[in-house]
Amino acid sequence: MVECCGEKTVYQGRIRQMNITAPRGTKDILPDEISRWHAVENLFASVCERYGYGEIRTPTFEKTELFARGVGDSTDIVRKEMYTFDDKAGRSMTLRPEGTAGIARAYIENGMASLPSPVKLYYDMSFFRYEKMQKGRYREFWQLGCEIFGSSSAYADAEIIAVLDTFFTELGLSERQLELGSIGCPECRPDFITALRAHFEADLDKMCADCQERFEINPLRILDCKVETCQPFIATAPSQLDYLCGACDEHFAKVKLALDELDITYNVNRSMVRGLDYYTRTVFEYVSTHVGTQGSICGGGRYDGLVEILGGKHTPAVGFAMGIERLLLEIEAQEVEFPPLAPLDLFIISFPDTAVSALALAQKMIRSGLIVQTDVMERSLKAQMKQADRSSAQYMLVFGAEELESKQFLLKRLSDGVEHTVAVDDLADYLLKAREK
Ligand SMILES: [Zn+2]
Ligand SMILES: [Zn+2]
Repeated sequence: MVECCGEKTVYQGRIRQMNITAPRGTKDILPDEISRWHAVENLFASVCERYGYGEIRTPTFEKTELFARGVGDSTDIVRKEMYTFDDKAGRSMTLRPEGTAGIARAYIENGMASLPSPVKLYYDMSFFRYEKMQKGRYREFWQLGCEIFGSSSAYADAEIIAVLDTFFTELGLSERQLELGSIGCPECRPDFITALRAHFEADLDKMCADCQERFEINPLRILDCKVETCQPFIATAPSQLDYLCGACDEHFAKVKLALDELDITYNVNRSMVRGLDYYTRTVFEYVSTHVGTQGSICGGGRYDGLVEILGGKHTPAVGFAMGIERLLLEIEAQEVEFPPLAPLDLFIISFPDTAVSALALAQKMIRSGLIVQTDVMERSLKAQMKQADRSSAQYMLVFGAEELESKQFLLKRLSDGVEHTVAVDDLADYLLKAREK
């Protein structure tokens, strides 16, 4: 065995086998866990569609420039975490690190601005970020999200939060809290930035190197710093909520009023931030209140400046995104119950001379809506019996030459061994009715 670049190369005689593993930070999703994924994804799609949102899927990679402009040059995502490569024609491409920039690009490019407003979209896509390895963080990860384009109204903000609240309620995720804030607009933000500069200036030499750089480029980003020694200075920083202009103040009040009317409780959070200019007004986050898994489950907010930055005309917009892997951890911690997978209705056992007829019978039953398995290994009778037992099928039948002739089957219920003779034409009906019992 030869170790080479972390991959194991095994020489076996003249055949060289290489054990290729999945790239670090990626994960296979296997059939035994997919039912949870389906439950979450299907419920999300159902909730979104009931609120009148249509699904959108954008390309897995986009021109790098889109994310540089649409996510922001100064963000960690763009500076450190993107999978960027030159294609064969030498153009810089990037695997999408988040959904909103690509969707805003698609909105502009497909002329969706000329559709009746608002345009309401949802998505279920995977994204790519080269992140430090930690539990529950993957370099390819999945997110569910919504975007509303074309409405500046506070009611659009309230509706998009309502989508989430309905989703969490129907999912059964009860230990959650909505954190709500406002980050103002280009009118009132400069005053806030001036106040931040004044606050941090005196202690800047006690703060981390990143923060010292952020102080020069964009002091708002200091508020995102996770470094321990910076926390005391961040905790005492002024809040944007005290610097909102009249219009932003009114907008925020209207969001809160609408949420009250919808019976959605929230905590006004005075320290929520977004470091980029095109984020405006409402910011929100759902956090888990479950002991052991506290932290953000979902983040969102208004981004009235984004479409314009990407070359469209001024279009107010609001949206959110949540990670499916994070959500699944939460579901497990909060012991949310899912309906069990539908069991196998029928296992058909066959002989070499009836195997192909058994395949045809299985196909007929499957097209009637049943879940059916038959032998595709050409195994012995005994081995097939064993497989039927292990399959937890509701019924089994043995398809021999006699059954081929008589078109009658002896159907055996595996839970108690009770047997019934059923004609081939009645078989599907019989099994479908048996499901209801
Ligand atoms: Zn404002
Ligand atoms: Zn810092």
